Amino acid sequence: MRRGKSRAAMDRAREVLPGGVNSPVRSYHSVGGDPPVIARGDGPHVWDADGNRYVDFVGSYGPLILGHAPRAVVRAIEEAAGKGTSFGAPTETETELASLVVDRVPSVELVRFVNSGTEAAMSAVRLARAATGRDLMLKFDGCYHGHADGLLAAAGSGVATFGLPDSAGVPGAFAGLTIVAEYNNIPATESAFERHGGQIAAAIVEPCAGNMGVVGPEPGFLERLRDLCTEAGSLLIFDEVITGFRVASGGAQELLGVKPDLTTLGKILGGGLPVGAYGGRRELMELVAPVGPVYQAGTLSGNPLAMAAGLATLKGLGPAIYKRLESTAATLQTGLENVIAASEVEASVSRIGSLLTLFFLPCKPRSFAEAKGADGDRFTHFHGRMLSAGVHLPPSQYEAWFISAAHDAACVDQTLAAARDAFGTIE
Ligand SMILES: *Cc1c(COP(=O)(O)O)cnc(C)c1O
Repeated sequence: MRRGKSRAAMDRAREVLPGGVNSPVRSYHSVGGDPPVIARGDGPHVWDADGNRYVDFVGSYGPLILGHAPRAVVRAIEEAAGKGTSFGAPTETETELASLVVDRVPSVELVRFVNSGTEAAMSAVRLARAATGRDLMLKFDGCYHGHADGLLAAAGSGVATFGLPDSAGVPGAFAGLTIVAEYNNIPATESAFERHGGQIAAAIVEPCAGNMGVVGPEPGFLERLRDLCTEAGSLLIFDEVITGFRVASGGAQELLGVKPDLTTLGKILGGGLPVGAYGGRRELMELVAPVGPVYQAGTLSGNPLAMAAGLATLKGLGPAIYKRLESTAATLQTGLENVIAASEVEASVSRIGSLLTLFFLPCKPRSFAEAKGADGDRFTHFHGRMLSAGVHLPPSQYEAWFISAAHDAACVDQTLAAARDAFGTIE
């Protein structure tokens, strides 16, 4: 496989971009070597600058549930662009997309669009603090909620991959307002509420964690968290930036039957363009300006291109698509488990719907502490072999593989054949 053009492109990139990238995980810092520089995508595939084709399970880290450049989404963007790219005024498209969100996500009555998941989480936290008159936030180790100062403690994949416990530049006073408990650990969560309950504005959680690798909620964990929040007068925020419109039409809250007070969304909602959103009950959301006192704004919020892409994507997500995603993902999981069983290597496959992580661990982890026991050298070796065999996986043990509706049997076969070869060479 030729890589010369990608390498040259990365050399040029490093002259003008920190690490040659605009988001750290893309640099391949943790697995070594240069990343393929992507030239284009179509359906389940991407092509790099050297013309190599890969089955893509990065999927832009979540948005591309319909695959790359789905015709309906591309057409919607082209049509919107022809009518003007931004107005700084209301449009009917944003109301149409908001209506779909309200229809699908059980706990959302009003929604505010922003430009990223980071902004969504940051804004939901501000709203929760305003609604409760309290300052503390409870988060869970390994859950990522974007890079806002107060939420960057114990934040999973990107941060973990770099071995940084926290980011530099976050004032201790901000980080001090965030309490961290272990994911899936009910006693630890109860004890956080015993110690701080009256001061906790909100607990924020990925209902199905996707940023420590895929780690599902144990039965009872989210239900107990819901009760603890209610008893303490704290709000519960589900960060559904990954799980929204993916694990079910109405996200994890529909799948699991637990209702948060506030929900953050992003990724799929923008159909590959920059979007985030936060929403919840009417009386909470009416605390947001211009109705209420919580200020939050955005020059490009509700951008017509992003709204059109999101609308075309959500309209494309019917029951048949979710069925197809489940069946493709289940076939991939079973196939990978067979590859593992036929080898001497300890590994396990954790999956929730179309989110999957192969952990180099004997059993699926329940927490970030367990996930961090995974064998990093084996992952690096595996990742490199898969890439050489034309399978583009996230370059971190702590990221999900994103399966799309464009992945077909041929993609799964190629991936399993590559995995069989890769496992055959793991020491
Ligand atoms: C990706 C992600 C975010 C941040 O979204 P950005 O658009 O990258 O700012 C927040 N929460 C979760 C759960 C995510 O996976």
